[in-house]
Amino acid sequence: MLKIVLLGAPGSGKGTQSAKLVEEYGVPQISTGDLLRHAVSEQTELGLEAKKAMDAGELVSDHIVVGMIRERLNEPDTANGFILDGFPRSLAQAEALDEMLAELGRPLQCVVHLRVDNEEIVQRLLSRGREDDNEQTIRNRQSVYQEQTEPLVAYYEKQGLLKPVAGVGTVDDIFSRIKTALNEA
Ligand code: ADP
Repeated sequence: MLKIVLLGAPGSGKGTQSAKLVEEYGVPQISTGDLLRHAVSEQTELGLEAKKAMDAGELVSDHIVVGMIRERLNEPDTANGFILDGFPRSLAQAEALDEMLAELGRPLQCVVHLRVDNEEIVQRLLSRGREDDNEQTIRNRQSVYQEQTEPLVAYYEKQGLLKPVAGVGTVDDIFSRIKTALNEA
């Protein structure tokens, strides 16, 4: 059983670490970025609406992502837990999540906060080369992160759920720090 949120700036390595957590704990990763990219590639109405915001490095509207998460958390494979990656990204989303999980009777175990400094992140993202990874969009995603997502650190700290983890070093170094943090939770 693992019910966690991975919190961290774009490029902090949430996706990489989520994949390793999936392998180790056998619970699904739920990434709003992946769900949205899937909707974009299927050219659903929702995907078309989301694409504009994604290309600009803005947040997709709460009703879209909250709806996606609600559906996903109702799938049977989440019964033993989940790793939320890239959600929540705003206080409104965090509150919506708390409500959903309270209804389901499955509260969060902890929130792992992957900490990496800004310049390191720009370098990582530029070398990744995804469609929305040009320098302008990256800078915009960082300022959106600072304004809208960073307040979640205090939000979860207040709930006693926050586990800060240094997101530097090798992938395996970071993963073992995460496991240590989870064992303490
Ligand atoms: P990164 O971690 O590099 O930001 P993601 O795959 O998590 O990449 O997100 C890519 C884009 O998808 C974001 O810039 C944003 O436009 C959109 N997105 C992903 N998750 C959310 C969310 N929870 N709320 C709003 N928009 C989101």
